[in-house]
Amino acid sequence: MMDGKFDNDIQAVVDADRAHVWHHLSQHKPYETTDPRIIVEGKGMRVWDQHGKEHLDAVSGGVWTVNVGYGRESIANAVRDQLIKLNYFAGSAGSIPGALFSEKLLSKMPGLSRAYYCNSGSEANEKAFKMVRQIAHKRYGGKKTKILYRDRDYHGTTIGCLSAGGQDERNMQYGPLAPDFIRVPHCLEYRAADQGWGDLSGEAYGQRAADAIEEVILREGPDTVGGLCLEPVTAGGGVITPPLGYWQRVQEICKKYDILLHIDEVVCGVGRTGTWFGYQHYGIQPDFVTMAKGVASGYAAIAVCVTTEEVFNMFKDNAEDPLNYFRDISTFGGCTAGPAAALENMRIIEDEALLENTTAMGEYMLDQLAGLQDKHAVIGDVRGKGLFLGAELVSDRVSKTPAAEKLVQAVVGDCNAQGVIIGATNRSVPGYNNTLCFSPALIATKDDIDQILTSVDNALTKVFG
Ligand code: PMP
Repeated sequence: MMDGKFDNDIQAVVDADRAHVWHHLSQHKPYETTDPRIIVEGKGMRVWDQHGKEHLDAVSGGVWTVNVGYGRESIANAVRDQLIKLNYFAGSAGSIPGALFSEKLLSKMPGLSRAYYCNSGSEANEKAFKMVRQIAHKRYGGKKTKILYRDRDYHGTTIGCLSAGGQDERNMQYGPLAPDFIRVPHCLEYRAADQGWGDLSGEAYGQRAADAIEEVILREGPDTVGGLCLEPVTAGGGVITPPLGYWQRVQEICKKYDILLHIDEVVCGVGRTGTWFGYQHYGIQPDFVTMAKGVASGYAAIAVCVTTEEVFNMFKDNAEDPLNYFRDISTFGGCTAGPAAALENMRIIEDEALLENTTAMGEYMLDQLAGLQDKHAVIGDVRGKGLFLGAELVSDRVSKTPAAEKLVQAVVGDCNAQGVIIGATNRSVPGYNNTLCFSPALIATKDDIDQILTSVDNALTKVFG
């Protein structure tokens, strides 16, 4: 602990947790004999657990969320002031922070003009799916209901989002899934050889992977496809940055077949890749952008589905028809803490020049990771953008056989023992669980990055020799 003191009887807390809490993403059998980890306090890049042990957090709260770091009093104060003034009102009413945050947010998103508030990344994606479906019914006589999603991408945990999920291990036990979600091939250049398109790399590979989307559209029938949902940098599927050429072609294809382009920025949004949004690296103009995690850095639950005036206006025509509006509500979209926190979060990112820091530190970290790749044969590929980076581990660089999950987890565990929390993407399905993942807060310094990568270097030596 920072000051060595607990406010609670910490063993009573651990006992209560073991007795009653069902943790996310966890097999609970081990907790019958070991204590779960309880994170008690955080400041900047660091957190402290129930034993008082300090950890450098290289994954921003476990799942890429705490973009501006822990212990931000100005966000806490903004939320406190707003809660005392007005905590909540929903339905068709607006709020002061909701209006001010939408104006500030959309000033960073040229071509987009409307923000729909809700609580989670999954829910924001569901809103966009519902808008695509309603437009299909309004404009296209019930056709164009199909929504394309990409192999390896993830869009959330609801049955609708799982139906648009490209990571089978998350979907396979929860069927039957929703109809009319159609998969397109992934765009991971490192594993291009698996796709049967010949020996392609760089822009040629990017264009081929985008052409594969067109092939799916033609197979399904362009008049049946209404939306295409993609992550700008695929997160849990292996930290995948598509090569040049991909996004331009994707945009052309969407325009050609009148398909709405939905970019899922739940991870990349609000600074993670060094621009406000990941899509802004690629010169494309989406029809929907969804965001959640970094919007308020976890200081409040808030998610947003952003769209264009053109889409918004489609829901205004035929105003005399009582069904002709977006027939949707999100109860906690009416919480004012979210936009109040989000507004202050954006101010911090601007005032502390965190986009610039993210770009500079991201380049430094990618460079250092490439150095580790020279040293450790087990690192097959390093990739990413800004402070969102991955190192794919393979047992053999020629065959690119994924490193065994147990060994990848041993690296994560050893970093943990050294006081550094890192992640590994996509556990469970063989061949998908082998990318170490790094997403430190946007305030990371060279010293922080050196500490993270020293622990990885040590762990790789220990586990792989
Ligand atoms: N989209 C992406 C790209 C994600 O990584 C996640 C969560 N990891 C989601 C959507 C779902 O967000 P939430 O957990 O807030 O529902």
